[in-house]
Amino acid sequence: MSKKLLSVLLSTAMVAALLVGCGNSAAETEAPAAETEEAAPAEEAPAEEAPAEEAEAPAEEAEAPAAAGTKVGVSMPTKDLQRWNQDGANMQAELEAAGYEVDLQYAGNDESQQLAQIENMISGEVDVLVIAAIEASSLGEALDMAKAANIPVIAYDRLLMNSDAVSYYATFDNYKVGVTQGQYIVDTLDLDNAEGPFNLEITAGDPGDNNAPFFYNGAMDTLKPYIESGKLVVQSGQTAFEEVGTPKWATETAQSRAENILSTHYAKGSGNNVDVWLCSNDSTALGVTNALAANYDGEYPIITGQDCDIANTKNMIAGKQSMSVFKDTRTLASQVVKMVGQILNGEEVEVNDTTTYDNGTGVIPSFLCEPVFADANNYKELLIDSGYYTEDQLQ
Ligand code: BGC
Repeated sequence: MSKKLLSVLLSTAMVAALLVGCGNSAAETEAPAAETEEAAPAEEAPAEEAPAEEAEAPAEEAEAPAAAGTKVGVSMPTKDLQRWNQDGANMQAELEAAGYEVDLQYAGNDESQQLAQIENMISGEVDVLVIAAIEASSLGEALDMAKAANIPVIAYDRLLMNSDAVSYYATFDNYKVGVTQGQYIVDTLDLDNAEGPFNLEITAGDPGDNNAPFFYNGAMDTLKPYIESGKLVVQSGQTAFEEVGTPKWATETAQSRAENILSTHYAKGSGNNVDVWLCSNDSTALGVTNALAANYDGEYPIITGQDCDIANTKNMIAGKQSMSVFKDTRTLASQVVKMVGQILNGEEVEVNDTTTYDNGTGVIPSFLCEPVFADANNYKELLIDSGYYTEDQLQ
């Protein structure tokens, strides 16, 4: 869409927004508590989109506001990890259903490729950019270009750091993901009552991903009292985020680190058990599970994860992974599509967190979707009944 048309639409939509009135801001202030809960059901977003469209009715041009001729650039990190394929596909489907043209690109986990792809999107005159970064601070040049061209930027799932070009952030409650993993360990080992001690090892995420410390801190804040009291013992001694991180979230890296830990502290025939392995997500949990299969003959540990990837859900069903945290990518996509529409229509953008995510240039207004605990007992309801996977995919 041409800049001129965009600015006509923006002003039309701003008028429309004014017509809908200040009620909006009152609703907005109350949003946080209620909306975190409400974010979970996937059906929510389409239903909520309707009133926004009705609000534009008075202005004729606003009928086709976001849709006709409007292009959204969607930059995803990689096709290698399952979730981003789903995120990309969901975003594309939802944006196209809403009438947008979509330029969806995957960057093969290569930061310079992502930078080039986004620069191309900008020269291709996208109207909004939605970016899930490979490395949080690596896209500065492209973001500066976007800012200069007045293209709003939404950080998708992962916050873009150290740039004042970021307008909004949509993600899941990342700290809560970690708390869910940590609390699962506390409950399953009954740490408040059991004598212990239990052996714990930790595998965290990519230090270049701003989400990774949130997951780690959520889990470690929950487990720390038990580590300090000696009920949980980390035999490897590796507890600091810098020691337990997994660059690029790579399964192979998580696997080789786990192999080292196993051969040093829990070698076959040693009789030493690792009771629990905190893994920040499913790709790293897969690495740990692979390492255990070949290098360990003790009692099988509790293993945590996140994402409900297909391979990991199969492992949960087979008893090789204890839990995961389900982040329904459909929910996130719907929320982001809603944000895109609200931005283009000049409406107030729905957020539910304005304190947590400082990207180094200030707090970025955020919408946090709700992560959900998943294990072998509830996966059918969460994943199959909701249409996320078919039964066949999990065979
Ligand atoms: C996402 C996780 C994902 C990880 C690796 C994180 O930024 O929030 O859901 O497991 O990246 O792709």
